[in-house]
Amino acid sequence: MLHDLMELTWTAVRDLPAERTIAVLPAGAIEAHGPHLPLGTDVIIAEAMARAGGERLAARGLHLLMLPSLAFAPAPFASAFAGTLHTPAGATTAIVAGIASSLSTHGIRVMAIANAHHDPAQVQALRAAVDEAAAAGSTLLFPDLTRRRWAERLTPEFRSGACHAGRYEGSIVLAERPDLVRSEVMATLAPNPQSLVDAIRRGDATFAAAGGAEAYFGFPAEATADEGRQIVATLGAILEEAVLEALSSRTTV
Ligand SMILES: [Zn+2]
Repeated sequence: MLHDLMELTWTAVRDLPAERTIAVLPAGAIEAHGPHLPLGTDVIIAEAMARAGGERLAARGLHLLMLPSLAFAPAPFASAFAGTLHTPAGATTAIVAGIASSLSTHGIRVMAIANAHHDPAQVQALRAAVDEAAAAGSTLLFPDLTRRRWAERLTPEFRSGACHAGRYEGSIVLAERPDLVRSEVMATLAPNPQSLVDAIRRGDATFAAAGGAEAYFGFPAEATADEGRQIVATLGAILEEAVLEALSSRTTV
């Protein structure tokens, strides 16, 4: 069963079987994604991952409590581009840990984050929230797609580190919200195969310094909706696997 928290009454939440209920928080950003994708691209991707993972887990007889998306995030790499909202990393940590703590008060002790915003500031903020939640006795899962274990299941472009507003993200937005893609612009964008992972290692701290003067990397013109649907299925499988793993370790402890 998939439940949308915003649509439920408090009595409906009280009556959920808490031990078999998993909360899912989509986490994205409002951030420049080239001249062709919307600022909310990462929110769209995070929601697709949450839905795909939630459906798989619901099919196993679990109750999935879908939380409203966290759209605000630290986004220092994109902060110079108009429309990007760069918010304090500590705020993200506090909000995410606070949500886990609230749910835990009501017996829901497992929460998974479907994160699609891979700025190092966001990744660190979420890791800090995981630690805070653990110290408070709840299980906050964060399958970090930048870790090799998960990244190797994703596309070659994603693994190369040229993973912002390119073929990978463009494909998912084409699959989920084609109405928001400026396809005629996307088709004309030259490849920008510079790796953000390498740029971060060099100490670059902005998209411009990393070689992304237009806030995109990779091969945007190669994006297809079909590839987007395949990626969403993989993201759902990753979320499912992370949750099942945590559940089995909780019952064996
Ligand atoms: Zn993105």
